[in-house]
Amino acid sequence: MSSREQQPTAAAAISNESHTHEAEQDSTEGHKDNNSTEAEEYRELGTHAHGVAELLIALSGNDIAIELRSPAFNILGFEYAPKTDAEFARLDGSITLLEAASFLEFNADADCQLASAEITQTTQDTTLSHSDFDAIYRLDCAQPDRIALLDVSRLFETFTNIERIDVQWVSDTQQSAAQLSPERPVLAFK
Ligand SMILES: [Zn+2]
Repeated sequence: MSSREQQPTAAAAISNESHTHEAEQDSTEGHKDNNSTEAEEYRELGTHAHGVAELLIALSGNDIAIELRSPAFNILGFEYAPKTDAEFARLDGSITLLEAASFLEFNADADCQLASAEITQTTQDTTLSHSDFDAIYRLDCAQPDRIALLDVSRLFETFTNIERIDVQWVSDTQQSAAQLSPERPVLAFK
């Protein structure tokens, strides 16, 4: 697997500061799950708050690039290196689910098909106490003019530790942001 720095990503299309966070956090100590002030600091850096995932979407003609970034906690329930058979199985199963990306559901008449998926897991700091998943997808949509909605209900159903998804999206003519939750899992492109 190649690293995300070696290729353009949906994130790069939206922000040129997307690769700075790991370095900034190298000296940061581990945090408690979800509710500490330290978690808030992570959130302000735009990355790694347990319970929160990021979705970066770039629409360009038929081609859609999507990057899903999430703390491993949201995906696996743990962030340390797997040790038991159950933990290895959970890691393998989660990567399979991320690769299949069946939770990225555009409105059907846009006729979007997954073209590629690349999943990487990165460790946040030198203590190995935090890690993230970065999933980079490309989709090919036969009717891109009909793209109206992205429903990620199944993402919340599959990875139940995800409480919120911060979305940024950009098209050839528009750019916007949104927050999705299990109660509001559908992104409208307008
Ligand atoms: Zn963490």
